Amino acid sequence: MATVTAASGLMDAPAEGRFGRGHRDRRLDAVREKVEAGERLSLADGELLYATPDIWGVCEMADGVRRLLHGDAAYYNVNRHLNYSNVCALSCKFCEFYRKQGDEGAYTRDLEYVKEEVRKAVAGGATEMHSVGGLHPYLPFEYYTDLVRTIRETARGLGSELHVKAFTAVEIVHLAKIARVYKAADRVAGIRWVLERLKEAGLGSLPGGGAEVFDDRVHDEAYKGKIRSDVWLDVHRVAHELGLNTNATILYGHIEERRERLVHMDMLRRAQDEALSRLGYSAAEGGATTLTRPGTPLPEHVAFGSASAPLPIAQSPLPSSAGYFQTIIPLPFFPDGSELEHLPGPAGLENLRTLAVSRLMLDNFPHVKAFWIMQTLPMAQLMLQSGADDIDGTVVWYDITKVGGTSTHQEVNVWTLQKAIREAGFEPIERDTLYRRVIRDGNAWHVE
Ligand code: SF4
Repeated sequence: MATVTAASGLMDAPAEGRFGRGHRDRRLDAVREKVEAGERLSLADGELLYATPDIWGVCEMADGVRRLLHGDAAYYNVNRHLNYSNVCALSCKFCEFYRKQGDEGAYTRDLEYVKEEVRKAVAGGATEMHSVGGLHPYLPFEYYTDLVRTIRETARGLGSELHVKAFTAVEIVHLAKIARVYKAADRVAGIRWVLERLKEAGLGSLPGGGAEVFDDRVHDEAYKGKIRSDVWLDVHRVAHELGLNTNATILYGHIEERRERLVHMDMLRRAQDEALSRLGYSAAEGGATTLTRPGTPLPEHVAFGSASAPLPIAQSPLPSSAGYFQTIIPLPFFPDGSELEHLPGPAGLENLRTLAVSRLMLDNFPHVKAFWIMQTLPMAQLMLQSGADDIDGTVVWYDITKVGGTSTHQEVNVWTLQKAIREAGFEPIERDTLYRRVIRDGNAWHVE
């Protein structure tokens, strides 16, 4: 006979469910029913997912969702990171990356350096250049359009279409200020002005950085001076309207509460509701558009077509990229070297749980990334079994966060990524930045 402990609600016999074996904490029954029906979870549901001691029940539910959306596929890409400058006008407390102009270790890359990085990227078969930096107080706006154009044109000269994923929302607003087009009365116009010019230069998508945690208390304590959540969301909305896909992050495990993480996730999924609505998705009662409702295609299948669901929703031709959030990337806070060094940072199970909760709460994000650079590859394997479907790329020279505080050189080869994915029980699929399958012949490649 099953027994229930008074304190935790745990019972000894797992329940059967649509997605698999089940959970042990009976308090999760109602949450599971919603997940299986493709309904949106409430903040209270999210709090329970964080509070329950049945972490494996949470991970198993998240695994059910990722298998529903992606089956046995797990994605990786071949990319190269280019941090164009670590000089920054701000001094966020959690940041160990920034330097002030003239500080030891401060750098700003010129276009010759950029060209050389592109040559290395193309020679290594990369499909993507990921480029972010600090908020440099002195570089002119043209530096950034030249940067994007140089990456695209140098790669084309070498016979490659290198996708440029660059500039967080924080950088976009900084560029609008540098270009003197950012007006408080109509900030969106300035954001649009910048994004249009970057897109014209060859920008392909935006990364998800700079979101941190959407909460004013946390903002004012840990990264005052950075844009607030409403501005971050404005940048991504305008990018979506211009047909640029974007990603989103959450930087957790510092001074925020778990409830604040859940509010952050809720704000993101509301923004994605809007983006999916522009693509032609219809919302359920209450305005939520979940991808877990039976028969709902993934947005990349709507945007680009695929074997499983070729362009089923939008009737009109879509632009080359469609304008929505592709991936949520939960990023654990690393205390070493930051002004918040006295904090412990999140431990392994908190990382795992936060990733699983992200998968369950962000029901309209097609992808959840276990960013191995910050999570480590062994943890990324566990995360693949707990809601993640992507482990990012081969990543050369990631300078933003130094795992262990020792080296900036973060690189694995494709074989290692594929092996890690197979060991976790999934089929490795190389994707491009827009989640199209890459067909490869050595360093030459094209998308399906
Ligand atoms: S997090 Fe970004 S904006 Fe803040 S100090 Fe670091 S580089 Fe600058």
